[in-house]
Amino acid sequence: MTNLVYILGDQLSLNISSLKDFNKKQDVVLMTEVAEEASYVKHHKKKLIFIFSAMRNFADLLSKNGFKVHYIKLDDSSKPESFIEQLTIFNKKLKPKKIIITEPSEYRVLKMFDDFKINKNIDLEIRCDDRFVATHHEFANYAKDKKKLLLENFYHLMRQKTGLLMENVAKKTASKAIFKPVGGKWNFDQENRQTMPANVVPPELPKISHNQNVMDVIAMVEKKFAKNFGSIEDFNYASTHLQAEKQFRDFIKNRLANFGIYQDAMRQDVDFGFHSVISMYINVGLLDPLKCCQEVEKSYHQGICDLASAEGFIRQIIGWREYIRGIYWFFMPKYAELNYFKHKNNLPEFYWDHQKTKMNCLSNVIKQTYDNAYSHHIQRLMITGNFALLAGIDPKQINEWYLAVYADAFEWVELPNTHGMAIYADGGIVASKPYCSSGNYINKMSNFCKNCYYDVKKTVGEKACPFNFLYWNFLIKNEPKLKSNPRLFYPYSNLQRKTKEEIKTIEKNAEEFLK
Ligand SMILES: Cc1cc2nc3c(=O)[nH]c(=O)nc-3n(C[C@H](O)[C@H](O)[C@H](O)COP(=O)(O)OP(=O)(O)OC[C@H]3O[C@@H](n4cnc5c(N)ncnc54)[C@H](O)[C@@H]3O)c2cc1C
Ligand code: SF4
Repeated sequence: MTNLVYILGDQLSLNISSLKDFNKKQDVVLMTEVAEEASYVKHHKKKLIFIFSAMRNFADLLSKNGFKVHYIKLDDSSKPESFIEQLTIFNKKLKPKKIIITEPSEYRVLKMFDDFKINKNIDLEIRCDDRFVATHHEFANYAKDKKKLLLENFYHLMRQKTGLLMENVAKKTASKAIFKPVGGKWNFDQENRQTMPANVVPPELPKISHNQNVMDVIAMVEKKFAKNFGSIEDFNYASTHLQAEKQFRDFIKNRLANFGIYQDAMRQDVDFGFHSVISMYINVGLLDPLKCCQEVEKSYHQGICDLASAEGFIRQIIGWREYIRGIYWFFMPKYAELNYFKHKNNLPEFYWDHQKTKMNCLSNVIKQTYDNAYSHHIQRLMITGNFALLAGIDPKQINEWYLAVYADAFEWVELPNTHGMAIYADGGIVASKPYCSSGNYINKMSNFCKNCYYDVKKTVGEKACPFNFLYWNFLIKNEPKLKSNPRLFYPYSNLQRKTKEEIKTIEKNAEEFLK
């Protein structure tokens, strides 16, 4: 009797749990490009190209490896609308003994499958996704009874679990091993906050040559999603495991050594900097996150990079990435509904068209996003995220934007980063204070302000940088909720020094700007 294994678009790993006991003689894999997933937000064209290309290439890889695969394309005549519609059709057609899937990464999709199982009384087995370091159970254990879910404590657990950058410091004669972090401390973030001088030129990402699958998908996306946000030009992302591994090796060889120090830097003429640009590959299964960390650890021991870069990279993956996933599953579905500041302003049009703002930082980051379906962490957090927070944008609208525009965006990772880290809509579950800043920070970490219409040194009045008056306005408006936060002691002390007249002018500038 046949088992039907349904593989979703972010489960493109040969070692995915749903394939673990696959019987090549009788079992069948089903993969489908469905309209509902392609259009529930208006995904960036390059995101669609990336995911559909990677899916088609993975289906070919499975076939080459002897798996029997049914693959339904979005432009096939059967017009598949949703996962469940497809599953119903194939369930009728193949009459499998059992349907097997690996747990979908998003709450919404898991619910669809759960409902399907209950309503149709079908033998559907949902397996854990063991491509993550922490299980849901482990995160829940860590989180229970804690007032504050600090990343740092969770990260230490993940270092201990994986053994990454840990060394045995016990004497040779000791009967028991004692593991301590390499370098004597867990975190080297303080060494990672430099700006990128103009004479530093980050290497380009290697050019990728695409196969027919990718060319077909580009043509399909061009036709079917012509009105979606984003450029289709120069698509240069990997869509096979081999290509993604090559990109990662290039990062290790050419960018890792500078990853740490320039991690937070932003420059107008720089798109990818020294970042790895692998989140999209890890998220869909083209790269294995743990293996990437092991490679980076090896590079440190070989002297390719210093400890600050290696630790910084490893913390992003087994720390932040795992923590964010834990938060998502621990707090969903209520998490998505939180709106701590009760913000309800509409997302400005310029988020979809960079030419509609004179704010050079925003215009640049949105243009890079339009071109690449990528911007790096600090751009997402301190430019587009910071502005959305200060301007009081409705969390649902800004979340939808982030989910649509980045090639690596899946709700489990996008939502806690946006809702929690960038706009503090969760009231402090993820961040210990809102990541709000004035133009000062942007000026310190980038060269955007030099070419801006606005004056970063001015807080109010003509051409005053909007980040400045919006920042103070945000602190004034939310004083009852934020003043007692010890991490905001200095901003509120500074606010206290402002006269009533100054405060009035700030509020007036903000009100006029947000009209
Ligand atoms: C508002 C906002 C929205 C975000 N949305 C997403 C998203 O939809 N998908 C996504 O994968 N990441 C998201 N991030 C996290 C982070 O910005 C991206 O993972 C990173 O920019 C990807 O670029 P990179 O591969 O060059 O990462 P690098 O800077 O090279 O970091 C290495 C890897 O660490 C992991 N990582 C680093 N920070 C985080 C983090 N905070 N959460 C999860 N993983 C992390 C990623 O897998 C990344 O590839 C978001 C961050 C913010 C502030
Ligand atoms: S002056 Fe203000 S708006 Fe202009 S780039 Fe600098 S921070 Fe952005």
